[in-house]
Amino acid sequence: MSAESSLRFLRQLQRLLDEGLFTSTYKYALLQALADLSVEQEPGADGGLWLAVPEIAEKFVEYYWRQALPFSPPAGAASAVTPDRSPLKPLLQNTDGQAAVITHIVAARSRAPGGSLAALRQDTSAWLALRNKVASVIRGMPLWKLQTVPGEATEFLYRKAEFRDDRIRLLPGVPAAFRNFHGLVTNLVRGAWVARVQRIPGNREVLGETASLEGFLFGTDRATLAPWREILRDHQSGRCFYCRSRVGGAGDLDHFIAWSRYPVDLGHNFVFSHPACNLAKREHLAHPEHLRRWRESNLEGGDALAAAFDAARLPHDRERSRRITVWAYGQAELAGAHAWVEGRRVEALGSGWRSALGMEQVRMAAEEGAEYR
Ligand SMILES: [Zn+2]
Repeated sequence: MSAESSLRFLRQLQRLLDEGLFTSTYKYALLQALADLSVEQEPGADGGLWLAVPEIAEKFVEYYWRQALPFSPPAGAASAVTPDRSPLKPLLQNTDGQAAVITHIVAARSRAPGGSLAALRQDTSAWLALRNKVASVIRGMPLWKLQTVPGEATEFLYRKAEFRDDRIRLLPGVPAAFRNFHGLVTNLVRGAWVARVQRIPGNREVLGETASLEGFLFGTDRATLAPWREILRDHQSGRCFYCRSRVGGAGDLDHFIAWSRYPVDLGHNFVFSHPACNLAKREHLAHPEHLRRWRESNLEGGDALAAAFDAARLPHDRERSRRITVWAYGQAELAGAHAWVEGRRVEALGSGWRSALGMEQVRMAAEEGAEYR
């Protein structure tokens, strides 16, 4: 991407966030969905990407699932909730009453075993019913309102005229722009989302001055990681993924592509490791030598993992995990990043990661070079 087209993309995105006409938080969810799907899916030869509305709806459910929980200030924070104020409710995501997506999710959650999204997905008819309801909300408004700022329609992401078979097409160069700026877009969107929720009048008395709203809206629940850890421990015969020696004690579950780089809990992205190895790796990407072993162990050897994840009702998607990994390493290479080897040792990443993932080089180069116009 040229510097000029990058700037134009970011400037237009910033306008949508600043000036777009919305009473709900849907535009944030929609932008985040477009950015995430640009990472997780393969664009066409022209650099554009067709996305079905139900795929976007699935992302909405993932983001709002957590946000549809009753809000309670985290332990330790000064309570803004008066004792007589009960029961706790989800935060409002719309200035005029609750957003329909939250209402649909709250209803679906009450019927899902353990209130778990993974459990709901296994009940195909309940899952599709929820996805369809959310899809119809998206079709009804946010999809066509997103690119409208006062006085003009700026169709720089996709065009209403191209909508067909329930699909939109991200214009050539847009998926590449979202891939290049994924971290930046995520931070812009989340910052604006948190500020919006905080400003909705009905939320003020519940929120008070709580500073941890971002954690509530976008955090992860560490406790839910334990079942993953046991599956990965078995898969690796009790050895640390990184140094390959035996792990005494509980061990750690490591996001192979760090949560801070791409916040998703998908089975094949996890490895089991020593707490010390996990800590030393921090937010780094692992060296291509680790990457090669991840490919062999978790992608090529991923059928056994998939079966274990299914049995434990844990979400996984090998192809999505592979795409996220390709994106993360591609971005890191462009940024001239270092990769973690062991302990405090890091090395320049270079291009060796492609062969570690068994990829040909030409396709990647063509894709990252796609111009946003
Ligand atoms: Zn280790």
